[in-house]
Amino acid sequence: MIHQGSCHCGRIAFEADTDIETVMECNCSHCARKGYLLHFMPREKLRLTTPEANFSTYTFNRHAIKHRFCEVCGCAPFGEAAGPKGEPTVALNVRCIPALDLATLKVKKVDGRSF
Ligand SMILES: [Zn+2]
Repeated sequence: MIHQGSCHCGRIAFEADTDIETVMECNCSHCARKGYLLHFMPREKLRLTTPEANFSTYTFNRHAIKHRFCEVCGCAPFGEAAGPKGEPTVALNVRCIPALDLATLKVKKVDGRSF
């Protein structure tokens, strides 16, 4: 299924070709502040419909994950990193998909704070 999402102002917009049933909620210092609900998927299944120049990037800790965000409206639609086998992976913030009914999703709690 193709999900259409964006930041609030629309400078970052995307189409994600993926099925979303379970999302991850993490309590680490970064995820907790932003309230992410994350869905992991191959990078190749995410198609940006706005220019890459429209997003800014935040990194911290080991700088392994590139957290993309909009510097105009402040939303953070997704992050990019290498998966366990080195494959390009996206952590999609499903809160940026307005048509998705978040109440129907299974939420897997991850204790990132303790890692
Ligand atoms: Zn924006």
